[in-house]
Amino acid sequence: MMSNPLIDLEERYDSGIYPKQPLVLVRGEGARVWSLDGQEFIDCVGGHGVANVGHANPVVIQAITEQAGRLMLCPNGFYNDQRARLLAELVRIAPPGLERVFLCNSGSEAVEAAIKFARLSTGRIKIIAAMRGFHGRTCGALSATWNKAYREPFEPLLPGFEFVPYNRLDRMAQAIDDQTAAVLLEVVQGEGGVIPGDGDYLRGVQALCQERGALFIVDEVQTGFGRTGRMFASQHHNLQPDLMCLSKGIAGGFPMGAVLIGPRIGKLPVKSHGSTFGGNPLACAAALATIHYLETENLPEKAAQVGARLLTGLRSIHSPLVREVRGLGLMVGLELKMPAGPYLAALAERGVLALSAGTNVIRFLPPLVITAEEIDMVLQRVAEVL
Ligand SMILES: *Cc1c(COP(=O)(O)O)cnc(C)c1O
Repeated sequence: MMSNPLIDLEERYDSGIYPKQPLVLVRGEGARVWSLDGQEFIDCVGGHGVANVGHANPVVIQAITEQAGRLMLCPNGFYNDQRARLLAELVRIAPPGLERVFLCNSGSEAVEAAIKFARLSTGRIKIIAAMRGFHGRTCGALSATWNKAYREPFEPLLPGFEFVPYNRLDRMAQAIDDQTAAVLLEVVQGEGGVIPGDGDYLRGVQALCQERGALFIVDEVQTGFGRTGRMFASQHHNLQPDLMCLSKGIAGGFPMGAVLIGPRIGKLPVKSHGSTFGGNPLACAAALATIHYLETENLPEKAAQVGARLLTGLRSIHSPLVREVRGLGLMVGLELKMPAGPYLAALAERGVLALSAGTNVIRFLPPLVITAEEIDMVLQRVAEVL
């Protein structure tokens, strides 16, 4: 393990809640990052799927720099040019029907807001989520997160949450009743192991919600902004969710979250929710630049192309260690028959950073600007390690 005074400082003063790799990352560009000692890495962690437009993206840098010198904050009791433009842009690129927006600062906050809006709007309490689903770590979002190790130390959490198996429409049909406020699902389960949702299943859940007066919430925090080969993963399946949670890639690395709101949510009462930093002009400027860059560079389409290259390449590695390779666009998981940790460390030694999903899955969430050559380098290193 590398010993370094900066590592020592973090080890001594950080809360200690994060397992860490022994690397001090100090610089990034495109799909590459560099450590303090000058080592170069292909970054398939991508800030856990945040860095969709690449590290040090010049368009995002310019937008942030200019806006920082103009106006960083503007409370929600006033109007702002950047915020107004971003709200309209989010509605323009969203699946049809989503017509209003609540802005916040993280994925968990987006899920919290969606839960509150669903309960407010339906007057019902019950929320149905999926086994292996992940929706965040704050108490409301955590109530919808399946992993017991994350949840149990903090119980009692919010009442009224229920878990059903993912991709099983029969089980969902049994669970939704006249007390159900909403169903909350990822379109591709990320943290739970990179498990793509089946189109018929997701459309079936949506129809059941409509039939029974429940709302359909999709959590696109990880799948949004080009990650899966479309701007939003919902668009692969022609979904029209009532609420859509966004964050991670939304502002090119700058912290931001959003909930897109459809017409089945009634008028939200004034002061029923809020956020001090939500919709600040700096984040809005970063998000506007990010959306512009994603569109002008066709990054969702590129993600589909290089993602297919990664998926096919991984599938052609014949190793007895591999159980399955799954994914959609540049959200790819390689499930091993054993824990992924040692293989992640071995990949890092060979200049490739990746992350885990659950215990056994190696997850690849590189910036969407990653090139075919870089994908081939990743494939070569994975083949060596396996
Ligand atoms: C990361 C993630 C969250 C939580 O986002 P934070 O910004 O860490 O609060 C919620 N849902 C999904 C699907 C995620 O991948």
